Amino acid sequence: MTDAQLIDRLIEQAAQAPDWRSSCARPGHLPLFNYWGPVMYLTSAGDVIRDDEEGGQLRLADPDERNFGLARAADLYPELAHLRPRRPQAAVTCDLCRGQGRVVVSRGKTSPWPDGYELRSFLYCSGCNSLGWTLTD
Ligand SMILES: [Zn+2]
Repeated sequence: MTDAQLIDRLIEQAAQAPDWRSSCARPGHLPLFNYWGPVMYLTSAGDVIRDDEEGGQLRLADPDERNFGLARAADLYPELAHLRPRRPQAAVTCDLCRGQGRVVVSRGKTSPWPDGYELRSFLYCSGCNSLGWTLTD
């Protein structure tokens, strides 16, 4: 099965999902992330796109957004795990989340996601687009 066929099949499944994805269903678009309004999608051609206004124009994600979107695709859809951006040799572990890709914010202070705190709410790390690493230039 090609990625395009796989993504098409996942799009059909997502449209029936018992969570936020079915309410964001859009033909030919696999929901990846919901920003409380704007939604990020993966097309069967492999493009990451988002709609900045509900029901508005779609636009191609920028490179940072694309990395974030592909990481969400890998998390949400195990069949798409191979799409997760690979850590290059030159990458350094993100300082903000210490490689976790997630942070917790408590009393205005951001700290890395602690292991074993599954019940606490988290934010995806904005320092590394949730990848846990960054490239310095
Ligand atoms: Zn980070």
